[in-house]
Amino acid sequence: MTELNKLTIAQARDALKAGETTSTALTESCLAAIDAADALNAFVHKTPELALEQAKAADARIAAGDAPALCGIPLGIKDLFCTKGVPSQAASNILEGFKPEYESTVSQNLFDAGAVMLGKLNMDEFAMGSSNETSCYGNAVNPWRRGNDDTALTPGGSSGGSASAVSADLCLGATGTDTGGSIRQPAAFTGITGIKPTYGRCSRWGIIAFASSLDQAGPMTKDVRDSAIMLQAMCSHDPKDSTSVDFPVPDFEAALTGDIRGKTIGIPKEYRLDGMPEEIDQLWTRGKEMLADAGAKVVDISLPHTKYALPAYYVIAPAEASSNLARYDGVRYGHRAKLAAGDGITEMYEKTRAEGFGHEVQRRVMVGTYVLSAGFYDAYYNRARKVRALIKKDFDDAFAAGVDAILTPATPSAAFGLGEMAEADPVQMYLNDVFTVTVNLAGLPGISVPAGVDKRGLPLGLQLIGRPWEEGDLLNTAYVLERAAGFVSKPAKWW
Ligand code: GLN
Repeated sequence: MTELNKLTIAQARDALKAGETTSTALTESCLAAIDAADALNAFVHKTPELALEQAKAADARIAAGDAPALCGIPLGIKDLFCTKGVPSQAASNILEGFKPEYESTVSQNLFDAGAVMLGKLNMDEFAMGSSNETSCYGNAVNPWRRGNDDTALTPGGSSGGSASAVSADLCLGATGTDTGGSIRQPAAFTGITGIKPTYGRCSRWGIIAFASSLDQAGPMTKDVRDSAIMLQAMCSHDPKDSTSVDFPVPDFEAALTGDIRGKTIGIPKEYRLDGMPEEIDQLWTRGKEMLADAGAKVVDISLPHTKYALPAYYVIAPAEASSNLARYDGVRYGHRAKLAAGDGITEMYEKTRAEGFGHEVQRRVMVGTYVLSAGFYDAYYNRARKVRALIKKDFDDAFAAGVDAILTPATPSAAFGLGEMAEADPVQMYLNDVFTVTVNLAGLPGISVPAGVDKRGLPLGLQLIGRPWEEGDLLNTAYVLERAAGFVSKPAKWW
């Protein structure tokens, strides 16, 4: 078997079980692909020794007939996850040199399921961004290009390294996190699948916090089946995260029956934006047709508070971030600024935070501090929380009226060029999240599935939003869409 790194998780699992390959061979193949792909800047810390040690242990378990779900499967882990003894910096200079003493619950769950860690993946600093350009390691690069044009494109953000690595076959799957779209938008930009589960499905323990009421981990994979397999392993009830729920985790792969007859799919009219590229609109129409052809009933719905979602998100997320990031003070973790004679503790905090945080993070901390300040709390933060409740109610009403899933575009455009947004107003960048943030505000599961290409050959994704805790159902609808769309293109290798 050649090019083992190109296998899906399900294919590799079956080949391992059949004795056709070994985890060591799979891992070596991924490590070689990673070393040959430095131009993508996807992996920011490589852990080959650890990977080969875990692969060897997995091979022994497989030989002994004791192979759990992800036994021997090589994965990449977003730098936001604390991994014991391995640099975990959230792509920030302020966490320079930080090697956690503990393992995040999600990465521990993956290791318990037998997974192999290849290294840590690039991302926007503290997961704040939509293009991976706020990383202290420099941006990751999208393996896709616009036809013969060699302009470097963003893989999206914040999980840009995860998206780039999976799309370029550097690993079989990767972890991502999604606070406002950071799994689904990069998945759409790179032609892969990414699911954000219901808030509370995955433990947040050991994941460096951005906005705690919105953050969720999820898998980024080559197809829907792999997302089902990997999500299953990531989810658990965790007493160390008070928002993690004590619900049984169903068998998500078993939910992939390919039968959605009788399901009702809602099409929200508020997601049709003025000036949206025609290709996105056409893709959305094709998506509706595919689901209708598969026997679903497609109905128009209204989610009237959608237009307030971005402003509410960009109040709530920075507010929570400013509070979560207060812990980086130069005392407990990572970087501490060099002080001048006469500097006291205040200067130490100020200099450390000014040096350690990048511009976007500083902007969020300032916005967040402002909206939480005594004079403005009611005007901004409390108001945004009320809007959030109304956005959630819109979805509750749609589901109560019998809608099983909602179909929307995943992003308002295909991947854009790196640097293209540099001169733009930050709000231009924030508009990338227009279709995804509502899902985080309402705590719902959402998945992005590659469903077509634009006229320059770049991948485009469709988003499905599901009922809370019904990830199995959602994955099954996504599976139907994936099969009908038949998206099989891969980026042409240039790196
Ligand atoms: N792009 C959004 C932001 O910058 C979402 C990021 C995320 O989901 N982590 O906040």
